[in-house]
Amino acid sequence: MNHLKDTFKHKGKRKILISELREKGIFDESILEAFDAVPRHFFLDLAFEEQAYSNTAFQIGSGQTISHPFTVAFQTQLLEIKKGMKVLEIGTGSGFQTCILGKLGAKIVSIERHRDLHLKAKKMLEFFNINAKLFFGDGYAGNKSYAPYDRILVTCGAPDVPEVLMSQLKVGGHMVIPVGEDEEQKMLKITKKNNDDNSILEFGTFKFVPMLERTVK
Ligand code: SAH
Repeated sequence: MNHLKDTFKHKGKRKILISELREKGIFDESILEAFDAVPRHFFLDLAFEEQAYSNTAFQIGSGQTISHPFTVAFQTQLLEIKKGMKVLEIGTGSGFQTCILGKLGAKIVSIERHRDLHLKAKKMLEFFNINAKLFFGDGYAGNKSYAPYDRILVTCGAPDVPEVLMSQLKVGGHMVIPVGEDEEQKMLKITKKNNDDNSILEFGTFKFVPMLERTVK
């Protein structure tokens, strides 16, 4: 947290990243603005600072990674967030994605199973003054006290779609979740219907760290 300095160099690199995201199909200007407003290098160790605006994933400790900027932008775009929506995020990680959702005006509940990551992310969210409730816990249980959610975002690779999370989604709401047991997962956007006939759209393959049960202290 001692390198929270945003220089012209950082800002310039961020502009380039944003134009790359636009070229790759991120058309929602409010998402691109959020990427401009949240310096990604604040979330990385000093050692990686130079490359913070390349489209790569980085170690953030506890064997976990901050997702590729494109992945963060793409999942966010699929969610179709509107101001004031209640969003549940599974896998807070560095808190970068949480901040992007916050800049879009979402009210966020985010869960992380690694205690140290949870604590670090909490500081970042306070720094950015983002309206989010961060919990240390197992995302497989979701968070019933704030349910139902307009949107649910899973940022780790799930073996299948957890029933509990579906039950915490509003009818008409979307869940964006990478699903697959192998190295790669299919990006799914599920829209909940009031019968069991949910609509499921597929958006290519991605690589996420696995969604694992139980917490790690
Ligand atoms: N959105 C994050 C991505 C972090 S990687 C970012 O931008 O930094 C995914 C995170 O999901 C990891 O931190 C991992 O510890 C967490 N995770 C995996 N399984 C989980 C579970 N069952 N509950 C909560 N978090 C989980």
